[in-house]
Amino acid sequence: MGLIICPDCGKEISTSAEACPFCGKPMSTQIKCPNCKSTKIEKISGLSKAGSVALFGVFAMGKVSKTYHCKECGYKW
Ligand SMILES: [Zn+2]
Ligand SMILES: [Zn+2]
Repeated sequence: MGLIICPDCGKEISTSAEACPFCGKPMSTQIKCPNCKSTKIEKISGLSKAGSVALFGVFAMGKVSKTYHCKECGYKW
């Protein structure tokens, strides 16, 4: 059983907790890297996606479909 940092209030909570006991944020939506299981995930901003689409048109849609980026291993999905 490990500890994770609540993204909302910054307190340490159990990885097995369904919600943060301090602020109530649900943890079931915790995103994990499918490659290395790291929770150091950043969401690729919709803004840069929109920029790529503007530059390359609808043909770039497939390439910008990835939403998350793992800071641990660099995997994108
Ligand atoms: Zn919290
Ligand atoms: Zn990873």
